[in-house]
Amino acid sequence: MSDIDCKEALKKLYEYLDGELSPTDARDIEHHLEICAACYPEVRLTTEYREALRRAAQGQPCCPEGLRHRIAHIIEKERRTPP
Ligand SMILES: [Zn+2]
Repeated sequence: MSDIDCKEALKKLYEYLDGELSPTDARDIEHHLEICAACYPEVRLTTEYREALRRAAQGQPCCPEGLRHRIAHIIEKERRTPP
């Protein structure tokens, strides 16, 4: 297991959530998220956002329109702003 920093963890977060990482990489991410409070809000937001998308894709009721836009906006902003 190797120690990764926040930048690395967040970079791989989407692949991790998609299950596209190798078991080794996935373990690194999991370990980092367990010990890192800084990444927690980001992970929570991303997880909730993806869950909302997944539900929307299945035609199920999602979170309110306003909240969805807000989350999308925050994620978009985060991506454009280098840490
Ligand atoms: Zn972190």
